[in-house]
Amino acid sequence: MVLLGAPRGGDDVRLGRFVKTRLRIAALVVAAGLLALGGCAAGGDSGESGGAAPEPRVERAVEVAEEVEAPASDAPSGVDAGEGAADSSAPLAGTGDAASAPAPDASLLKVRFIDVGQGDCALISCDNQWLLIDAGPPQASSTVYSVLRRLGVARLDYLVSTHPDADHAGGISGALEAAACGTFYSPTAESDTRTWRSLCERLGRQGVPITIPAPGDSFSLGAARVTFLGPVHPASDDNNNSLVLRIDHGDDSFLFTGDAEHEEESDLLSSGANLRADVLKVGHHGSAGASSPAFLAAVAPQHAVISVGGNSYGHPTDEVLRRLTAQGASVLRTDQGGDILAVSAGDGIVLTTKGAIDE
Ligand SMILES: [Zn+2]
Repeated sequence: MVLLGAPRGGDDVRLGRFVKTRLRIAALVVAAGLLALGGCAAGGDSGESGGAAPEPRVERAVEVAEEVEAPASDAPSGVDAGEGAADSSAPLAGTGDAASAPAPDASLLKVRFIDVGQGDCALISCDNQWLLIDAGPPQASSTVYSVLRRLGVARLDYLVSTHPDADHAGGISGALEAAACGTFYSPTAESDTRTWRSLCERLGRQGVPITIPAPGDSFSLGAARVTFLGPVHPASDDNNNSLVLRIDHGDDSFLFTGDAEHEEESDLLSSGANLRADVLKVGHHGSAGASSPAFLAAVAPQHAVISVGGNSYGHPTDEVLRRLTAQGASVLRTDQGGDILAVSAGDGIVLTTKGAIDE
């Protein structure tokens, strides 16, 4: 894991946690001086200020980020209004043994695929910890803001921007307006788009640095485990440089592929990473350039979620829909069913649509 523009390395996560426990107090003392460090690399000085920083400074920056106060909210802090609540709508589909309601005491992982039009956005919670993967286009900012407020999420423990494209990173500004961010993951610290600069400005205001994860890096989200699988190799093409991550919760698993296309899929297959997952967030909105037959065979999803809205690219393509069906996956689309909720109790997943975000 690296921060800002620092070179990649695999040991920083463990080191970071080790150092953090010892620098909790010291970090607060130097907080003011570190705000600049926390500022986004989009200022153009990432290579100097971030990359040259010795590890302790970087780790302190992480600690400061975690001390950021949540903005005032009239909603209860960190409460998942839907946690433990029964789904108001009938399940669309299920996996494993969870066709019936999960046990009330079970640790629930909830994955909400939010309908943001043409773009990606998934809000995930487990044991009152929150993770946001992408936030749709800029015009979805208000949607994302409202959802977080409605659910009482004042702090996103983790925020993942799979890549800087506007249909994924554009709405993150709305998320940062509604909630404080703990750790912000991105495959890059640099992009010269206006969307990215605006996002970086907001991160800077919260004193949150950009963390670039390496394949194999992972963190816990309550009882669930989140693991970065890609990009296996840095790619110049934004889509094929998408952060790819899997979430494991008991026997249940989800795979998020951003806009990864055949090139990155091929790297993932060669890497030997465990790609098998019960639910696949289909790559690149169902573009034919993604979801190769070999990749889908390795994932072998029972359910495929396509996050897509009106678009001129032909997403999702008939070809990909055919490949998914041939693979035996049920296909759920945000442009057809709106928000989609997947609830995992660790031994099976139940998917619903109507009222998925409102509970
Ligand atoms: Zn996209």
